[in-house]
Amino acid sequence: MWAQPQHALFLCLLTTSCSFVSSSFIKRTSEPVNTLAACNRLQGLLGNTIVESSAGPDYNATVNSPRNLFNTEFLPTCVILVTEAADVQVAMKTIFEYEVDYAVLAGGHSANIGWDAVNGGILISFERMTQVSYDATKDTITLQPGARWGPSAMALAPQGVAPVGGRVDDVGTGLLLGGGLSFLSPGHGFASDNYVELEVVLVDGTLVTATANNQYADLFRALKGGANRFGIVTRYEVKAIHTGTPDEKTWFGGSVTYPESSFEALARVISHFVHNNDNPNAVHLSIYERINIDGLDTTIATSWLFYNGTELPKSVFGEFLSIPTLTSNLTSLSYLDVALALAGSSTPGQGVAWGSTALVGNELVDDLYLETVRLWLNFSNTFVSQIPISTLAFTPVTLSQISYGRERGRNAIDPPLIGYNAILQTINLPEGQKTVPKDVEEGRQSLLQQLPTSPGIPLYVNECDSEQEVFATYGGFEFLKSTYAKYDPTRFNIRHMDGPKGL
Ligand SMILES: Cc1cc2nc3c(=O)[nH]c(=O)nc-3n(C[C@H](O)[C@H](O)[C@H](O)COP(=O)(O)OP(=O)(O)OC[C@H]3O[C@@H](n4cnc5c(N)ncnc54)[C@H](O)[C@@H]3O)c2cc1C
Repeated sequence: MWAQPQHALFLCLLTTSCSFVSSSFIKRTSEPVNTLAACNRLQGLLGNTIVESSAGPDYNATVNSPRNLFNTEFLPTCVILVTEAADVQVAMKTIFEYEVDYAVLAGGHSANIGWDAVNGGILISFERMTQVSYDATKDTITLQPGARWGPSAMALAPQGVAPVGGRVDDVGTGLLLGGGLSFLSPGHGFASDNYVELEVVLVDGTLVTATANNQYADLFRALKGGANRFGIVTRYEVKAIHTGTPDEKTWFGGSVTYPESSFEALARVISHFVHNNDNPNAVHLSIYERINIDGLDTTIATSWLFYNGTELPKSVFGEFLSIPTLTSNLTSLSYLDVALALAGSSTPGQGVAWGSTALVGNELVDDLYLETVRLWLNFSNTFVSQIPISTLAFTPVTLSQISYGRERGRNAIDPPLIGYNAILQTINLPEGQKTVPKDVEEGRQSLLQQLPTSPGIPLYVNECDSEQEVFATYGGFEFLKSTYAKYDPTRFNIRHMDGPKGL
C-alpha cells in the first residue's frame, strides 16, 4: 500500500510541538493525491521492483537507513530504488510533471532533518548503485552515487589509487556535493575539486554530462559545494590519486588523546597549524568530546595526525606532540590504513544535530579558539545529562587546499587565500530518542550564535545547521545564485526538496 505520513514527525508538524522541526522544513506543497498518482505512474513505467510502496520488500530498510534517527521517521509515499541514470530521469520527469515533494538518499549521513528523507513524497535511493572502478588509461575513478568511502578505498587500494573522499568509512558520495573534506585535502583540495566529469539529471529529467570545459561548466562548478540544489548526479568521474597499495607504508601517524587539562593548549595548536603549515602532505583532524554514555563520563580530545612520509616532522606536528597527552598511537601506515582510521565511528540509531563555524588561525586569534572551546564545554556540561555525546571538531582548510581548488577552475565555496579551520559542533541524543528537548535546542542555537566566526570565511554546508545561511558565506555565492536560476528557473527544487537555504 502507499504510505501516508503518520509518523511522530508528522504529528509534530501538525502540533508544532517538536523543537527540532525547522521552519525551512515546513514547506510541503505537493498534494497527496498528486504523489499517489505519480507513484502509480512510476510503478507503471519502472516496475514494482524499482518503485516500492510501503508494502514493498525493501521499503522499510530504505526509509530506516539514514544515520540521523530523525530522518528515519519520514514516510515517503513510494521509494524509487534506481539502478541506472535512466531510472532517475524517468523519476524526475514524473516528479516534475506531478509537482511532488522528493528527496535523494545516497550514503544517508546528512545531519539535517529532511535533507535525505521526505514525508508523503517520493524518495530516490541510490542503494543499488554502489559500483566503483578505476580506468588506468584515463587515470580516473568512477563512482556510482550509492558508493561509500570505506568500501571504495578498499576496492581500489590493490590498484594503488584512491579518490579524495571522506574520513569515515560509511559516509557516502553526498559529501562531494557539499565540497568534501578528506585526509588528502591539503594536497588535493576539496574532494569535489577532483571532479573530471559528472552525469547529472536536471530537475525536469534532462540528462547532461558536465565537465570543466563544456557547455555545462557552470553546473560542474556549482556541484562543487552547491549540495542537493543543482540536479541529481548519477555518475561521478574523479581524478585518481596514487596513494599506494596496502603493502606500501608511505604514511606515518595515528591518534593522540588529550586530557581536559590540555584543551586550551590544543586549541592554540589547532589555530597555529592552519596558519604556519602549508605542507600538502600534512593533515590532522581534532575532536573534543564530552561523553556521558553507559556509565562512561569523560571529557577528552583526540587528534588524528597523518603525514605522507616516514615520520611526523617536528616542524609541522611538534606543537601537537609537546602538550600533555593521555595516549599516543603513532606508526607507519598505508593510505588505506589512513582512510580506515576512523572506520566504525559512525553511529546509527541516534538523533543528531550539527552546526558549523569557521575561524582563520594564528597567534593573534588564539583567544577566539579558546572562547570556542570554552563555550562548547560550557554547553556540553550544562546538558550532560541529556546529551550522551557532544563534540567539537576542527578540520584545517589549508592554503594549499584552497590554491588547488583555484587551479582546477574554482569550486562554489571559493574561500579567500587564507588557511582556516572548518569547525563542527555536534550532539547525539540517547538512542531511540526522537525529539531534541526544547531546552537543549535553545541551548544549541544559543551556542551556535555565540561561537566566534571569522568574517569572509565560508561555512561548510556538510556540517551546518539547516537554519544557517551557508551559501551566503561562499566566495562563489553570486555565481551560485545565477547558476541556480539558469538550471531551475521555476525554483522547483527549492519548492519541493529540503536542503541548504539561500539561493
Ligand atoms: C560520521 C560522519 C562522518 C563524516 N565525515 C566527513 C568527512 O570526513 N568529510 C566531509 O567532508 N564530510 C563528512 N561528513 C559529512 C558528510 O559529508 C555529509 O553528511 C554528506 O552530506 C553525507 O553524504 P551521504 O551521501 O552519506 O548522505 P546523504 O544524506 O545520503 O546525502 C547528503 C545530501 O546530499 C544529497 N545527495 C546525495 N547524493 C546525491 C546525488 N547523487 N545527487 C543529488 N543530491 C544528492 C542528499 O539528498 C542529501 O541532501 C561526515 C558525516 C558523518 C555523519
